[in-house]
Amino acid sequence: MKDDTSRRPELREGVAMASPGRYVPDRTEGTTRVEDLPKAKSFRQSRNYRRRRCVQCGRKAYRLRTATRHLHDLGDPLSGRPREIHLCYSQHRCPVCNRYFNADMTDLALPGSHYTHRVVHTAVRLVVEDGLPYRAASWHLWRDHRVFVPFATLQNWVEAGGKKGGRRDRR
Ligand SMILES: [Zn+2]
Repeated sequence: MKDDTSRRPELREGVAMASPGRYVPDRTEGTTRVEDLPKAKSFRQSRNYRRRRCVQCGRKAYRLRTATRHLHDLGDPLSGRPREIHLCYSQHRCPVCNRYFNADMTDLALPGSHYTHRVVHTAVRLVVEDGLPYRAASWHLWRDHRVFVPFATLQNWVEAGGKKGGRRDRR
């Protein structure tokens, strides 16, 4: 499977960040080249349908074409490899109201997101419930779950959740 790290500048950020010596040793620690990191394991998922009900008027809308999204999921702790979901989905056009829409896949991820709900929930929990600073949470996600989440992204998720505890200062 094709590796897409070249499209992800945050990988380099993540590597540079993953250096403090007080953490539990990690086999990727000290790695400075993206090519040396464990390759993601890909999994296919499908939300591909011949027809769906129009989200606007409820009439039957046939598939116009299919498209693919890539989602970063929680990785596999045993193999130590990141996990990526290749999600094939159908796009539809309603013949009645001419509305274009995608097959529903909000059970996996929010629209436009590059991460699954599982990643977002785990990340937010680390900050909100476990009280980890963003940077430490970001490192923890890589170390234990093999998923890179830049801490700015993490911060956006937490603030969007709007229920961050008041016990830590925010920077
Ligand atoms: Zn319609």
